[in-house]
Amino acid sequence: MKKIAVLGAGLTGASAAASLVRQGHQVTVFDKGRAAGGRMSSKRTEQGYLDMGAQYFTARSDVFTQQVKQWLEAGLVELWRCKTALLSDDEGVISLTASEDKQQRFIGIPSMQSPVSALLQGIPLLTSCRIHKLDYQQQCWTLYAEDGQHYAGFDAVLVTVPPVQAQQLMTQSGLANIFDSVTDLLEPCWAVAVQAQSIPYGDAIFCQHPQLRFISHQQHKTGRSSCYILHFNAQFSALHLDEPAEFWFERSSQILRQELQVKGDIKTLVAHRWLYASQKDQMAPPGILAMPAQQLWAAGDWSYGGRVENAYLAGLQLAQAVHEYSDHTEAMR
Ligand code: FAD
Ligand code: NAD
Repeated sequence: MKKIAVLGAGLTGASAAASLVRQGHQVTVFDKGRAAGGRMSSKRTEQGYLDMGAQYFTARSDVFTQQVKQWLEAGLVELWRCKTALLSDDEGVISLTASEDKQQRFIGIPSMQSPVSALLQGIPLLTSCRIHKLDYQQQCWTLYAEDGQHYAGFDAVLVTVPPVQAQQLMTQSGLANIFDSVTDLLEPCWAVAVQAQSIPYGDAIFCQHPQLRFISHQQHKTGRSSCYILHFNAQFSALHLDEPAEFWFERSSQILRQELQVKGDIKTLVAHRWLYASQKDQMAPPGILAMPAQQLWAAGDWSYGGRVENAYLAGLQLAQAVHEYSDHTEAMR
């Protein structure tokens, strides 16, 4: 049995932690956020949850399909009965057309993070705990949190935080910068929630648009406030990265009124900036990064191509790497 620290309570961290506990290890999970979920988090409001991050997930591998089946049986996820549509921009002419397909899309209920919380059930989780330094002495890791606390005695550390944050941690700790080649991997996304009259066609609107990548209507999602979530694309989000919420509210209202002909009141609710949201299409996913001799392992959705399913699989791969390395070093003794 090893004592293992997992940094990050998104789906990668949760999947790794659950798998390691099943293998008999003692695991503690740390997250800077107030709750588990990471980019699969929904914001709680009086009217219901708002999915500001991931909107849905698909399952293509056998392993994840099996896991989703279990979550469905446990009532943690449901099939999203969404109508799909395409918003396209043909040289300035915007059109919205139905774009139906047979893809099954799933959502956590009553919020996106439900499956993450379920994986972490019974596993020690320290929230609002930002780890800002790591120290490796005599084959043991100590984690230093920003609030002055420290946590000692870990045999292995799994880093599942986005690469830029991971690189900062390595620099601060004076460790080798194994993240140097992947810091450009994730791009930003501004997400805006609004209440507006229904747009014809579509709960899941894929956008080939100069500013937007996705519009989601939450009306058929259990537990959610019935509103729209607009996700701006990486280019437009990066270009206006530091604009205040008002900018994003105005942009969203203008697009809805002028391009989608939405009439009546538009009530803007929340604007959220994700600095490290989605994977650059043109960059190859790097797989797991590691300092095996020190038992530091790192992965995230970015390791295999940024999607929910890939975060889950990255967690399993991390757990397997720790396990295989333990077996290997045992055999060497
Ligand atoms: P994260 O969820 O980012 O988890 C990392 C965790 O590390 C976070 O909880 C963070 O708080 C924590 N952390 C960071 N630094 C520290 C530190 N120093 N100390 C402690 N904790 C730290 N995928 C889909 O499949 N379908 C979608 O529809 C979809 N839509 C998306 C829409 C948006 C706007 C975004 C942002 C993402 C979307 N994704 C979607 C991608 C999906 O959300 C991610 O692939 C997945 O949630 C990533 O999980 P993860 O555990 O690898 O990373
Ligand atoms: P998926 O199979 O539903 O979609 C994959 C991609 O195929 C879509 O992005 C879209 O471009 C296209 N597509 C699929 N169905 C379509 C339809 N009916 N009409 C038109 N285009 C269609 O889901 P997936 O492969 O699991 O991908 C995950 C989703 O997560 C993608 O939609 C991706 O854009 C989204 N994502 C968003 C962010 C963000 O920052 N907003 C980050 C990561 C992932």
